[in-house]
Amino acid sequence: ASGDKKYKRILLKLSGEALTGTEKFGIDPKVLDQMALEIGQLVGIGVQVGLVVGGGNLFRGAALQAAGLDRVTGDHMGMLATVMNALALRDALERSNIATQVMSSIPMSGVVDHYDRRKAIRALGNGDVVIFSAGTGNPFFTTDSSACLRGIEVEADLVLKATKVDGVYSADPFKDPEAVKYERLTYDEVLDKKLEVMDLTAICLCRDHKMPVRVFEMEKQGALLNIVRGGQDGTLIE
Ligand code: UDP
Repeated sequence: ASGDKKYKRILLKLSGEALTGTEKFGIDPKVLDQMALEIGQLVGIGVQVGLVVGGGNLFRGAALQAAGLDRVTGDHMGMLATVMNALALRDALERSNIATQVMSSIPMSGVVDHYDRRKAIRALGNGDVVIFSAGTGNPFFTTDSSACLRGIEVEADLVLKATKVDGVYSADPFKDPEAVKYERLTYDEVLDKKLEVMDLTAICLCRDHKMPVRVFEMEKQGALLNIVRGGQDGTLIE
């Protein structure tokens, strides 16, 4: 079954918000189990999976700042939130018998390993899922940027960004019925049209290092597996 894939190594970015599912706050275990199932299907056909999970379900620096906190402190809280999400995701993956390692950009001895690119590449090569947590370790960045950064560093073939809609639209499809979906975009089109796909830092990083990004809908069952097999779900930015 291992020949049955287009991409050998991917970096999947999951938003923190998605983890809330039907809960009011925090993490919905049912969502974790569903994600573990879909990631397990990739591992099952021999795809090496790196994961970055956001923290927006718990804390975001910008929102904390708006509420009166110091921005950098808020960003630190946001990054720590991603570590909690990563631990929850590891738990779900390991319960599904998928070997998983969590690395953190902020050293957290005794809880998770400190990020080490060579160790990450080795673990991915062994077939372990590696979750890159604590963002880039720096304030004023997002987990979209850390996903692209880690994806480029570990030489992933593709960055996959899971969202609520099935790709990139000309306008917000929830608000504008005229919105049309793009099948493909260049990095410069994303920048020129000011499409809100990922923050500009993330897009520029991918452009400069020629890392393709596919934006897709996580809730569409089978989409993830289809994409690694060469399917055209969502929007490809390259
Ligand atoms: N964050 C940060 N530096 C990083 C990545 C994340 O400071 O390199 C902080 C930032 O405050 C951000 C929060 O962590 O709002 C959670 O990440 P993000 O908003 O990207 O999560 P998502 O929207 O994907 O759930």
